[in-house]
Amino acid sequence: MALFPANITALQVKALDQALPLFAALDVISEQNTASVLKAFRDQQVSEYLFRTTTGYGYGDSGRERLEAVWAELCGAEKALVRTQFVSGTHALACVLFGLLRPGDELLAVTGAPYDTMQTVIGHTVQTPGSLTECGIRYREMPMSEAGVDIGAIAGHISPNTRVALIQRSRGYSLRKPLSIEAIRTVCAEIKKYKQDCICFVDNCYGEFVEVAEPTSVGADIMAGSLIKNPGGGLAPAGGYIAGKAALVDMAARRLTAPGLGGELGATLADIRLFYQGLFLAPHVVNQALKGAIFAGLIFDLLGYKTLPRPEELRSDIIQAIELGSPEKMIAFCQGLQQYSPVDAHVRPVPGTVPGYTDQVIMAGGTFIQGSSIELSADGPLRPPYIVYVQGGLTFEHALLGILGAASAVAGM
Ligand SMILES: *Cc1c(COP(=O)(O)O)cnc(C)c1O
Repeated sequence: MALFPANITALQVKALDQALPLFAALDVISEQNTASVLKAFRDQQVSEYLFRTTTGYGYGDSGRERLEAVWAELCGAEKALVRTQFVSGTHALACVLFGLLRPGDELLAVTGAPYDTMQTVIGHTVQTPGSLTECGIRYREMPMSEAGVDIGAIAGHISPNTRVALIQRSRGYSLRKPLSIEAIRTVCAEIKKYKQDCICFVDNCYGEFVEVAEPTSVGADIMAGSLIKNPGGGLAPAGGYIAGKAALVDMAARRLTAPGLGGELGATLADIRLFYQGLFLAPHVVNQALKGAIFAGLIFDLLGYKTLPRPEELRSDIIQAIELGSPEKMIAFCQGLQQYSPVDAHVRPVPGTVPGYTDQVIMAGGTFIQGSSIELSADGPLRPPYIVYVQGGLTFEHALLGILGAASAVAGM
């Protein structure tokens, strides 16, 4: 029995043919990143005895400390926190902002409107109780065009009070391009030219292992991200990370725990082997997810939809945006993809409200780990021009089947 309609199967053949040279380029990157992971594991002498849980305060937790040393080395950073005590990427990012900023300080977003959940942390659009704005921190935003950061405008936006510059690597829920590692290098250098002590902070969500370097090795002072995205490799059951200059990471750690405690405490309650093993797998899993993203772009391009990035474009995050043009098509896309999930394939996703997001959101993702978006998932806020964002896929085979399911549903409307 044919899984998909004949016209979709014909597109599959065409798309795979166009994808082959692009896939070869991705394999070069994942091989290099795997070599870097193996080097960090070797340098830090990762051993089986580290794979144990700890209890209570978690003082001298060698499994945790070694994992953080591995991640710091991989990021070219002085220090890292890799913790399940971060409930999400947003929480890790918020710990950095609340850890670094004081009343009267200014936060400057140089990459336009931040990711939806960061807007509630900042509290500049909607007054959120407990937000940075409520704590007396001022916020400024530089608009960002589809072309990239307006480098020339940075000088005019930096004031003596600009303590932190927020640089979001990924496109998030927008059509602007992600920042390449080279672009991050340029932006950080430009900021430092006008204010040497302005902290360059990168929201690195969805960017890890897409290129062969991370932001903290090209000029960013600190960065944060989620462990149920790229660096968890699909195995990390929860958590987030922060990496960067030691003094800054310590300030964020005091927010995670308490002043005086910092990063010295925090028991490893989850099986820490999953974090090591997930990190080991992450370069390959990101490779599979990127192949899925390229394949999705090619299929929907052939179906006549606007897709971003273009198939051959340099990528710096794992997201593929597809402009579907109607809420009905977004729903069909997500329902089609959900049918090819390993978990909850029998349920039909519908739009709903999600904490941290202002618009209604639809999400497809029958994932082993709740909300994991390194596993194949598709989502988007229901607002014009009705763009669905597809990301993840632990195996390319799964990404391919899910995307063909989505394409069949949209094309069959
Ligand atoms: C995922 C993401 C976050 C954090 O989201 P969580 O769901 O809290 O992990 C922040 N910024 C960007 C760009 C993201 O993609």
